[in-house]
Amino acid sequence: MNTDYYKAIRKGLHQNAELSGQEVKTALIIVKELEKLNPTCIFTKVGGHGVLAVFDSNIPGRNILFRADIDALPIMESNAFEYKSLNYGVSHKCGHDGHAASLLRFASYLSLNRPQQGKVILFFQAAEETGQGAFAAMQDQRFLDLKPDYVFAWHNIPSYPLGQVVMKGEEFSAASKGLIINLKGKSSHASEPHKGISPALALSRLIREFSTINSAPKGFSDFVLLTIIHAKLGEVAFGTNPGDATLMLTLRSFKQEDMTKLEEFVKSKLKEICTEEKLSYTVSQTEVFPVTYNDPELVNLFEDQLKEKGVDLIMAEEPFPWSEDFGCLTSKHKGFLFGIGAGTQHPELHHPDYDFPDELIEVSCHRMIDVYGLFGNLD
Ligand SMILES: [Zn+2]
Ligand SMILES: [Zn+2]
Repeated sequence: MNTDYYKAIRKGLHQNAELSGQEVKTALIIVKELEKLNPTCIFTKVGGHGVLAVFDSNIPGRNILFRADIDALPIMESNAFEYKSLNYGVSHKCGHDGHAASLLRFASYLSLNRPQQGKVILFFQAAEETGQGAFAAMQDQRFLDLKPDYVFAWHNIPSYPLGQVVMKGEEFSAASKGLIINLKGKSSHASEPHKGISPALALSRLIREFSTINSAPKGFSDFVLLTIIHAKLGEVAFGTNPGDATLMLTLRSFKQEDMTKLEEFVKSKLKEICTEEKLSYTVSQTEVFPVTYNDPELVNLFEDQLKEKGVDLIMAEEPFPWSEDFGCLTSKHKGFLFGIGAGTQHPELHHPDYDFPDELIEVSCHRMIDVYGLFGNLD
């Protein structure tokens, strides 16, 4: 099966874009393709709709895992090409269709170049965008039994030259966490606001406090970012003075300890303002992504190999501000996530006109072969 074949598979996955946690047909397409390539075994429904394929030499050695994410986003596609998403309001705007097709392409290489020792584990991971898929898979005994020694993944990155490898040791992408804050007062008639407890003032004070942290972050060791993503006060009812409010935030940091500090800052402001405004409150968290931590030693070895081969490579100076739930895997296993440039003029990730550049299927397959050649037999 050649590259054109996998470009067509990519377009099929693109048409069939499915949200995190709903990747039923996507998983079926992947399994159907894997079955043509005779892996030693295929496991389905791993961490939701994830799929694992194993090429096992049956001889002890390194177990190397490669991950591709497979889920799409709740974004309305603005492209008009013939393979545009058939699912209304859902589309592949992070290129996970391309990551999955590339891993299938790599599977086709492995089916002809089977490991001489150890195993190669291909993990088609569901629900990356919501930060749930990697964690869920890591609770599955079938996943744990494979005992990966090293874990690797790559992500396409617009604004870098097409095919350029983007590497970094230690922190590669940020930790992030969603916080949902509910404020509770007491509603009253709009003509008698003094008889109720409206959270309106507290809501505006909190928004102001949380907005200022970005301009002058104090007491943190590295980058932190707090984004207010949603706010709601009462209901649309002109006769009612509101009694509750909701505020949602996304917190980001490069260091795990700064995430803890940022969360403490939010909670202390919340306590202070709610006490003053006589409100009760609850805080819950969602979509928690750890920092993706790249093993510096493995990164150095890969960097040397790419330089030797004359592969276009850039070492990023700062971690990326977005998050990846591959960080769940690197929190338990040695490995790294690397970027491959999607083109300097390419639409950005999560933009409605983004589409995965098909040239990267072959390029990324070569890089995965490089990684496997370097670490598959490393003692
Ligand atoms: Zn994404
Ligand atoms: Zn992505």
